[in-house]
Amino acid sequence: MPFVDSAEECYDYIIVGAGASGCVVANRLSRTNKTLLIEAGGLDSSWEVLMPQHCGLTWGDERFSWPIMSTPQVHLKNSKSTTAYLGKVIGGSASINTMCWMRGNQSDYDSWASLGERSNSAPILVPVACVNKSDNYYYGMYPNNKKEMAQRDWFVNHTGPHTSLGLDVAAIIKTDKKLDRPNANFMFVDSLYGPFPGGNLFQRDHSETPGYMCAVSNAQVFSRGSVTLQSSDFKDEPLVDYDMFSDNRDVQNAIEGVKVVRQIFEHEALSDDVQTVVLPPPHVRSEQELEGFVREMVGSHGYYSGTCKMGSYSDSMAVTDNQGRVWGVGNLRVVDSSIIPDAPSGPLVSVCTMMAEKICDKIQEPQQQF
Ligand SMILES: Cc1cc2nc3c(=O)[nH]c(=O)nc-3n(C[C@H](O)[C@H](O)[C@H](O)COP(=O)(O)OP(=O)(O)OC[C@H]3O[C@@H](n4cnc5c(N)ncnc54)[C@H](O)[C@@H]3O)c2cc1C
Repeated sequence: MPFVDSAEECYDYIIVGAGASGCVVANRLSRTNKTLLIEAGGLDSSWEVLMPQHCGLTWGDERFSWPIMSTPQVHLKNSKSTTAYLGKVIGGSASINTMCWMRGNQSDYDSWASLGERSNSAPILVPVACVNKSDNYYYGMYPNNKKEMAQRDWFVNHTGPHTSLGLDVAAIIKTDKKLDRPNANFMFVDSLYGPFPGGNLFQRDHSETPGYMCAVSNAQVFSRGSVTLQSSDFKDEPLVDYDMFSDNRDVQNAIEGVKVVRQIFEHEALSDDVQTVVLPPPHVRSEQELEGFVREMVGSHGYYSGTCKMGSYSDSMAVTDNQGRVWGVGNLRVVDSSIIPDAPSGPLVSVCTMMAEKICDKIQEPQQQF
């Protein structure tokens, strides 16, 4: 990819943001068009970005990430604010994320096909295939000499345990089989991020304490947040308000998800491996106690979507049609996670990749001017 210091030439396409979606669009359009890709962050060549095992080191490092601090969340314990980080580097958040590739549930996309169609535009969505493969690894269980060997394997050959994040098992499930859609998303991690509770979830503690964790997230989200300006000065950060748990169904789904994970860890099949279940603490059992627990522990996964959603012209909240074309503005498309109309049940890179590929198919149809 050629890099430019000044951009005084004319381009067929200018793409802002070399993230999960922007890179796909740039790859497709630059094959046959003069294309400029503008990225606020730097190259993705640092070891912190490249080494899967320690992706958490990039979170909060201003060389690689944008911090997103929410407004106080009034439905959480002590109205706490939550912090998340988005990628600021070639590859965007996909360069600093936990590399879990999931395509979500088919029902996530059922309503998308008819959204925001202009005449003659076919639905853009078809299923995509998914693969997630890496070696499993129990960091905390390795003796120190093995850890050194692992580091050498990585830095010399890019092989060995550091090629894995330890997040090799994930699932989207219904906590009650009577539900028509999955409501819980589990990601199992093979070591402890501590300290607990309410600790720093972004750094592995590298302790010798072996452990497993399971991050539970809601596969359906009913609460709706907002992103607004706090002033007319563009240098001021926007106000990001998830309004987390403002819809009680989200609280209930979180509780049900936690209950299922607890059942898994307390199951006799794991009794040889699991000595203690640390969280939720053993005494937290009643619905009320579990509610208090989820309101204290919940945070953001960083799967942002829907701030600029696709939808029909008559929908006052819709910004683009189903090809990312901004309603009422010529020659401008939005192609990234912000146009996702409804939060899918899984993480978003597969969705962004699929949307970007499908929209590029449309852009490249012979009759399309843009
Ligand atoms: C910590 C974390 C973990 C995650 N884990 C997973 C996971 O395991 N699996 C998964 O599928 N998804 C995961 N996600 C979500 C997924 O990575 C994102 O949803 C996805 O990358 C969004 O793609 P995007 O193209 O919309 O934006 P991004 O990939 O975030 O890219 C946006 C790009 O635009 C650039 N940019 C922003 N403003 C400007 C500007 N003014 N000028 C120039 N450039 C600009 C940014 O620097 C960035 O590079 C995770 C996200 C985070 C934050």
